[in-house]
Amino acid sequence: MIRAKAIHHEAIMRGGGNPATDQAARKGPSLYDNVIKQFDKAADKMQIDPNIRKILEKTVNEIIVHFPVKMDDGRVEMFTGYRVQHNNALGPFKGGLRFHPSVDIDEVRALATWMTWKTALAGVPFGGAKGGIQIDPARYSTAELERITRRFTFALGNNIGPEYDIPAPDVNTNAQIMAWILDTYLSTMPPHERFRSTHVVTGKPVKSGGSLGRDKATGQGVVYLIQEWAKDRDFSLKGATYIVQGFGNVGSWVARLMKPLGAKLIAVEDITGAIANPAGLDPDDLAEYVKRRGGVAGYPKGSPIDHAAFLSTGADIFVPAAMENQITARTAPLLRVRLVAEAANGPTDPEGDEILQARRIELLPDILSNSGGVIVSYFEWLQNKRSEFWDLEEVDSKLRKKIVGSYERVRAAVGDFGTDWRTAAYMVALSNLENVYKERGIFP
Ligand code: NAD
Repeated sequence: MIRAKAIHHEAIMRGGGNPATDQAARKGPSLYDNVIKQFDKAADKMQIDPNIRKILEKTVNEIIVHFPVKMDDGRVEMFTGYRVQHNNALGPFKGGLRFHPSVDIDEVRALATWMTWKTALAGVPFGGAKGGIQIDPARYSTAELERITRRFTFALGNNIGPEYDIPAPDVNTNAQIMAWILDTYLSTMPPHERFRSTHVVTGKPVKSGGSLGRDKATGQGVVYLIQEWAKDRDFSLKGATYIVQGFGNVGSWVARLMKPLGAKLIAVEDITGAIANPAGLDPDDLAEYVKRRGGVAGYPKGSPIDHAAFLSTGADIFVPAAMENQITARTAPLLRVRLVAEAANGPTDPEGDEILQARRIELLPDILSNSGGVIVSYFEWLQNKRSEFWDLEEVDSKLRKKIVGSYERVRAAVGDFGTDWRTAAYMVALSNLENVYKERGIFP
């Protein structure tokens, strides 16, 4: 496939954009500023090489595509899609695709950068990327979403590829969307190359080359870490209470996997509203309801509560598994929990972080706690490359070993450097990247 041919009305900004200019056009706080604040804190503490710091502060490529799609009624709509590739020092770019009205260059840039730290911390041979389309998918039919996805894939052309940049599911995207991307990408390749390229996306349906356990992997990783956290504190999860924000892929899997441990889900919030039941909500039953009704609102075995009441629910653990910037200067004082296990990307902003620390609320930071998704994406990529198919037990045990290894490295860094968990996680990730740049030097 020839890159120029595959691109329609496309503006490619190579060498990174200008966050300051882009931000001027964007309302509200910049997510990328939050990323840089977190990065600066760790980079200062570890006294990172100033040259490497300059490299890591910038994205490598920022791709924006505008593309037309025919709607069911015959009209043509223009869409805007993004792919930001932050860094590929450790391997091919890797990161999810999000379909959401909030998707813009600032958000995607921030999410791509977090992916670089996440893969570096997890010790998987990938870099960091993220992408998405600025749409509310609920406004489109399934047939329209398929055409939007396929045309976006075509517009990205060779900017993605199995050994170059590998997308995966994120908010409002799933295995079906990955199957459409796979099929579109393979359809543009010469026939004899097609089956060498199934690893162009991960999070595919199992029959199309996906891995067993990828659907639950992010939630599973969060739960493995909560178990480690509890073990370290001699804290029993049996009878422990928790609340979850976001009941999509990640949030619902966290809840369903906490159930056999005997923990009690007492409040849930999603985009449709919040519900509570001090006696406990059954995650499997709620997941069935959400599948049928599209959200938790109206669930008959819970009472509706408002956002402030949800955040103020007294519980042992809070799992934010929805969107970014949920725990802020305004909301952090409301929390009445012992642990925040960040399943979403960027749910806590820097001011929220300070308040959590001052209030001695413990934290499992996002780049550690939601890394189960990219770890199992790596397993899927490997299985495709080797034409292997691992059973679920093998996937789960390898995931557990890998994510617990990361947890132990971060815990050691917390002790060695006397710092908080987020900064320690960054320090472990950044020192891996720093070492690689030092070994290889800068071309030419
Ligand atoms: P999803 O689309 O399956 O679910 C998102 C959930 O968040 C839905 O329940 C939705 O109703 C809820 N939500 C959206 N906006 C909300 C709001 N303002 N308030 C309350 N709830 C809201 O998405 P997902 O894949 O579960 O992703 C959730 C988070 O986890 C995101 O931050 C994503 O980047 C992160 N993440 C996902 C994966 C993955 O493998 N899917 C991996 C790592 C991190």
